[in-house]
Amino acid sequence: MSLTGTPVVPGIGAGPVVRPGERVQTPSDEPVGDKDATVAAFAAAAQAVAERLTARAAHASGAAAEVLQATAGMAADKGLATFVGKHAATAGPATATTKAVEELAAMFTAAGGLMAERVTDLHDVRDRVVAELLGVPEPGVPEPDEPSVLFADDLAPADTAGLDPARITGIAIRLGGTTSHTAIIARQLGIPCVVGVASLPLEGGATALVDGGTGEVVLDPDPADVAARQAADEARRSAGASWTGPGRTADGHAVQVLANVQDGPGAVVAAAEPVEGFGLYRTELSFLDRSAEPTVDEQAAIYGEVFAAAGAGAKVVVRTLDAGSDKPLKFADMGDEPNPALGVRGLRIADSRPELLDHQLDAIAQAAGRSEADVWVMAPMVAVPSEAAALAEKLHSRGLTAGVMIETPSAALLADRVLEHVDFVSIGTNDLSQYTFAADRMASSLSHLTDPWQPALLVLIERVAQAGQAAGKPVGVCGEAAADPLLACVLAGLGVTSLSCAATAVRSVGAQLSSVTLAQCQEAARGALAAADPQAAREAARAALS
Ligand code: PEP
Ligand code: MG
Repeated sequence: MSLTGTPVVPGIGAGPVVRPGERVQTPSDEPVGDKDATVAAFAAAAQAVAERLTARAAHASGAAAEVLQATAGMAADKGLATFVGKHAATAGPATATTKAVEELAAMFTAAGGLMAERVTDLHDVRDRVVAELLGVPEPGVPEPDEPSVLFADDLAPADTAGLDPARITGIAIRLGGTTSHTAIIARQLGIPCVVGVASLPLEGGATALVDGGTGEVVLDPDPADVAARQAADEARRSAGASWTGPGRTADGHAVQVLANVQDGPGAVVAAAEPVEGFGLYRTELSFLDRSAEPTVDEQAAIYGEVFAAAGAGAKVVVRTLDAGSDKPLKFADMGDEPNPALGVRGLRIADSRPELLDHQLDAIAQAAGRSEADVWVMAPMVAVPSEAAALAEKLHSRGLTAGVMIETPSAALLADRVLEHVDFVSIGTNDLSQYTFAADRMASSLSHLTDPWQPALLVLIERVAQAGQAAGKPVGVCGEAAADPLLACVLAGLGVTSLSCAATAVRSVGAQLSSVTLAQCQEAARGALAAADPQAAREAARAALS
């Protein structure tokens, strides 16, 4: 039997099916003990959990290490201990932990954005601490002896981060979208992954195959089919390993392949890949923990690290602070908003806090002046051409190349008028799909709508690319869509001139582009645009590109 979900990390995983252990239930008849003893029991259990997660973080790297360390920090957090203390007089340690987490989770959910996303981590901490208190094995993913595939309803970020790609060769998840934590970490670990498999059986099924390229999950597959797909995947991987850039189709049509970065150390790692520069530098991610605006000099030093990593002549597209909604910045807080994703975020913050943008542009200009990188600057969340005009004036007066992100349908529809003011645009497909389909990019239950293969999204991208061609100006894509090798070819066929994605994805994107002609990409684009739905779009593109 074959099931279908959203493919997020290409590759083939096959083997026996394993599933995460059952959640440990807090016993309803847990005795109430001495308050201090309950607080002490919680503290000891939380410390043991934090130490185990920290030890696992030490053996991981990148996003996986960050997630493990953040979950360890949450277990050791004094706030959680305080909430447990409130219940310690009337409940046993496991019950007090569960109640404390319920209260905190309700607060996080009400805060929305990044806080709400952390509720999964909070529940994960609860399950680990309760297991420790009850003296039963920690819940989570088993470590199978033979290469296996993992089926789960959803995975805690700490569980995904701790996966060993030698033992877990593929992941299929019932929930989760292309931008979920599971997807991001699986991509970093290089584990083939399919999310949003609505009918994934949560029991039964001896073996399975996960095809992270097509989104198929085959239950009890034919061994010959497994072998054939594994051989094709091996060929694809070795093409990626030997791809040296620059981004070109087989017949020489240039499409720049760039990496998305967020800080100096990450930029050094990304620069080691065969990229022509960085197509999205998410500057706000360096300042998530700051309560005060960093000075111009400090900002210039931070940006300078990324420019230095890029090297002489390499393109670096700096994005101005994208604060608000899913990336709250304390020093650019706009207060309570009923709907932060539709509120004052990104460039809109400069309306009431113009100094934040001016200081950042001064810092970028300062760092660019000291660097040999080719620095371009763009702003997020631009909705109308007049915003692009005002931004371009500020950038040009500082001698900087000016651009905007196309993340709203309004900017896509009037891309030709936006391009009258700026030197380039870059399409942020993560937000453009959120706003086009009125579907929260974080909501896993809506991931079928925010699928980057949605034909309506592709129609908007085509419109922007055509506007770029008419104006003779570059049009990039820097959302998750650019990390999908097949979709990258469709984007090239639509007329996009650069693709920027996670550094771990650049080789598969570059290798796939180099194996097809521009005419094939254009045919794939036509097929995908005319398709009825994302699945049909993938199939049409695959047929044109094979
Ligand atoms: C996007 O929206 O596609 C994008 C690249 O920006 P971010 O994911 O940082 O919002
Ligand atoms: Mg965005």
